[in-house]
Amino acid sequence: MPLVRYRKVVILGYRSVGKTSLAHQFVEGEFLEGYDPTVENTYSKILTLGKDEFHLHLVDTAGQDEYSILPYSLIIGVHGYVLVYSVTSLHSFQVIESLYQKLHEGHGKTRVPVVLVGNKADLSPNREVKAVDGKKLAESWGATFMESSARENQLTQGIFTKVIQEIARVENSYGQE
Ligand code: GDP
Repeated sequence: MPLVRYRKVVILGYRSVGKTSLAHQFVEGEFLEGYDPTVENTYSKILTLGKDEFHLHLVDTAGQDEYSILPYSLIIGVHGYVLVYSVTSLHSFQVIESLYQKLHEGHGKTRVPVVLVGNKADLSPNREVKAVDGKKLAESWGATFMESSARENQLTQGIFTKVIQEIARVENSYGQE
């Protein structure tokens, strides 16, 4: 019998960067056209990685800005985060930096498993954030970086697989201390 592990993952980022679209593409396998501001939505999906099974509980949030206060519900009991900005919005990238600081403080400065995602990479002609800047930011946190498009199912599978792996990596690093 494979071991089924529960993982709660929260998707954070400025509004309209594609948080809902990424979650929807990952879970439902389709791209959402048109803008529908999210209040807060949750999704469940079983993910199999090798011989392990993960029960992934995804929380798609309403969107934050630099002034947002992260509620405890987005800190306590959360295993990992997907931080999303849009490559077409420098402002959304700046918001991510302040969100990460809040997460870091909320988690008592322990290592937080994070995947940083530069979404809407299919809109590259309108790009305001270079891939190298996303990569540098993620590296400064010791986190993983990827660019994505919510139009591409494979890319969304990659994001959520990565966050599960990041959670395991951080857990193992504590185990070795
Ligand atoms: P959220 O507010 O961060 O949850 O953003 P949404 O998922 O609601 O997306 C906002 C808008 O951007 C919608 O019109 C989506 O169709 C569009 N969108 C989201 N992701 C992508 C993407 O990767 N590429 C493109 N071209 N459009 C996207």
